[in-house]
Amino acid sequence: MYASRMNNLPPYLFARIDEMKDEQQKKGVDIIDLGVGDPDLPTPPHIVEALCNAAKDPENHHYPSYAGMPAYRNAVAGWYKKRFGISLDPGKEVVALMGSKDGIAHIAEAFVNPGDYVLAPSPGYPVYRTGTLFAEGRVHEMSLLRENNFVPVLADIPKNIVKAARLMYVNYPNNPTAAVAPEGFYKEVVDFAADNDIIVVSDNAYSEIAYDGYLAPSFLETRGAMEVGIEMHSLSKTYNMTGWRIGMAVGNADVIAGLGRVKTNVDSGVFNAVQHAAIAALSGPQDCVKEACRIYEERRDVLIGGLRSLGFDVPFPKATFYVWLPVKDCMAFAGKLLNEAGIVVTPGVGFGSSGEGYVRFAITRPVARIQEAITRMRGMRL
Ligand SMILES: *Cc1c(COP(=O)(O)O)cnc(C)c1O
Repeated sequence: MYASRMNNLPPYLFARIDEMKDEQQKKGVDIIDLGVGDPDLPTPPHIVEALCNAAKDPENHHYPSYAGMPAYRNAVAGWYKKRFGISLDPGKEVVALMGSKDGIAHIAEAFVNPGDYVLAPSPGYPVYRTGTLFAEGRVHEMSLLRENNFVPVLADIPKNIVKAARLMYVNYPNNPTAAVAPEGFYKEVVDFAADNDIIVVSDNAYSEIAYDGYLAPSFLETRGAMEVGIEMHSLSKTYNMTGWRIGMAVGNADVIAGLGRVKTNVDSGVFNAVQHAAIAALSGPQDCVKEACRIYEERRDVLIGGLRSLGFDVPFPKATFYVWLPVKDCMAFAGKLLNEAGIVVTPGVGFGSSGEGYVRFAITRPVARIQEAITRMRGMRL
């Protein structure tokens, strides 16, 4: 019944976890869900208000422009200028996305021929792989290992694969490892991409979720980056807007044009009222972002402190709302936490083969729930 490409899609690991979670819930277990990478905090009121006002205007009820309203693309360019000091031409170097997942899922169709390689981090956001497979490309997993600070070793990629590679994903601050890009890494990526004619796609979804004064860079700040690649960004994590479906791709004009051309054929743009709300988010006061980071930071400290008191060796992440915990067997560990303590975490293999040996905690629940999770774990043999 299904096309053969469906067989290449990853196994239904997340569906299986949902099933196990439902089983526990039916038994009346009070589940603490630290599995989902979706902020529990509400979208700031001034953004919701902007949506409500824009939704009342019939002008906004028509098909949007494919690339995004000029005012939205200007707001994106303005935000990139203010935040990263990068100048973008809103006409050619910015395109609106229905969340960055939209861009990640579709970009391979514009640049990857059947059999071409895409270099994707493992562990990594699963859509790098599925987008590649839908374009009938092949994925080369670049392992992110703890001994390398969760950064890929570009010199380790086999020569024949580098030759056949068209796209490369980088993602810092990183989901799921919570690693940040070390000094000099992006320069290395730009040189590698320029030498080998590879398009770089930087996924910067977590640049604003950072702690201890850490300020995440944009890939595009690196000299030469605009010649070799683009960056995907999103309002989802920054402004607690995962349900709104709005983001952007910015950078190299030819790459943006290719992605835009695919999108004109598969969707009809982002609801204009949502774009107006996004303008309010990007151009308005940013204290809401600081406040969210303060909340996550407190949760991070409670979780890391708790895990360390249980004997786990785990660093304080500088960014993202994840904690990447080394364990012996990730499926067994996640299953045990769920079945014996009602705690949901994500097994690392769900993010690729190099995710084995880890589970991911998302600190998208209140401090009291994280404390409760630690208390439950204290009673277990882990
Ligand atoms: C959440 C996430 C995204 C996509 O988010 P959107 O809601 O589609 O903008 C992309 N990449 C990573 C690594 C993420 O964690």
